[in-house]
Amino acid sequence: MLLDFSKSVGDPLVEIGRLGVIEFCKKDKFENKEELKRYIEKLFTKYVYKTAKTLNQIFSDNSKFTHNSSKNDLNKRYKNAMEYFENLMSQNYNGYCISCGKKDNLSNVEKMIFPLTTGNKNVNFTSFFYGNLLMCKACVTSLFFSPINMRKVDWGKAFAISNNKEINAFWSEENIEMFKSNIVKDTDILPDSKINIFENFIYNTIEELQEEELFGDVTFYLISNVDRNTKIELVHIYEKQIRFIHKVAPKFFKDELPTKEKDEWNYLIFKYASKERKESGKKVKFEDEIINNKNYKATIKYFNPLINSFIQGKSILGFLKKNKASWNLTKIYLKEIKEMREERLNVIKKVADNLQLFNEDDKTFYKKVVRPIEMTKSQTEFRENLRILMKKFLSKSEEPLFTVDDMVLYILPSGESWNETKDILLIALYEKMNLKEEDIENLNQGDDDE
Ligand SMILES: [Zn+2]
Repeated sequence: MLLDFSKSVGDPLVEIGRLGVIEFCKKDKFENKEELKRYIEKLFTKYVYKTAKTLNQIFSDNSKFTHNSSKNDLNKRYKNAMEYFENLMSQNYNGYCISCGKKDNLSNVEKMIFPLTTGNKNVNFTSFFYGNLLMCKACVTSLFFSPINMRKVDWGKAFAISNNKEINAFWSEENIEMFKSNIVKDTDILPDSKINIFENFIYNTIEELQEEELFGDVTFYLISNVDRNTKIELVHIYEKQIRFIHKVAPKFFKDELPTKEKDEWNYLIFKYASKERKESGKKVKFEDEIINNKNYKATIKYFNPLINSFIQGKSILGFLKKNKASWNLTKIYLKEIKEMREERLNVIKKVADNLQLFNEDDKTFYKKVVRPIEMTKSQTEFRENLRILMKKFLSKSEEPLFTVDDMVLYILPSGESWNETKDILLIALYEKMNLKEEDIENLNQGDDDE
């Protein structure tokens, strides 16, 4: 009987295990059960004899897979586990595999094989099905490899599945490498990301992928490994997000601090890292860990609202505006992520460039042109402001500030957010000024006093 692991399956847990099989065994087809058994023995030996606290139910007391009675007798535990597996392999139920759809010669699998999301009602996981379920031999086997192809993150285990096979291979390679090196080091064998914030973990993975020039859509899963009140979180990352990072953050924190001039995006990420984090209940200060120890890579361990918004697919235009980001960075973001039309960006930039006609000194320019735009609270007000500027502009120039077409098609096209246009225009205007944050605050202070 041939066992074939070469084809994708529908269940994420089985799929991540299938990819684990391929990487752990370095092959995707097995002539017969005996050939496969050698690898299972190898895997189960590790599960039983090595520590695995990060997934503490795996082959441990709480798992239905082993017997409580074998707690102090690991040889007995190993024997039980192998017997259980071989029993599964020898079953022959008729029907269709719940995971890949294969017909007949199925095993009757208890969903409590090990408690990965077993209590959750997400219909895409086998845990949704009550009681036992039928699975083919390859899918059952895959399940046993899933724990080693995941990484500990926060309260759960995280894994990633992409539409790009190379990304999947990269992910599995890293995990199996970590798994093997943990065995040598005699530490907890299951891969640990050492990051306790899911969004940061995803961001960190994206940085690695873009460095390898690997691009594709990737779904990240975070699942719990307890059998009560279990949770499943999903975040879908689009290829364009990875490409964006590739364009703006080619070098991530390793051995130096980013500066706004040289590395604007990384500087922003760095700036938004919160100033402390908790590690096993203790507060760790950013200053001590990152700056004093020159451990810049650890920046990723701190909660970061910018990373959070970016990973969750929310707009980060507000962050860019607030930080007076360069037009270059803004443009890449709007084009790559927001898929904004180039013409629209060009027209808004042209308006900002034209407005320079009024710029004799930064402070006056800010008060007369920029501030009124900043203060607009509605589309009507924004439009009104632009008209006033248009009128002033015509008193100094032969050409208009913008044409009717510009206005209708690009500046405030029907159905698009006026607020976004306002933010983009402001970013383009900020770039023209050399005012510091304090200068602007002082100028605004004056406003309030009037
Ligand atoms: Zn199957």
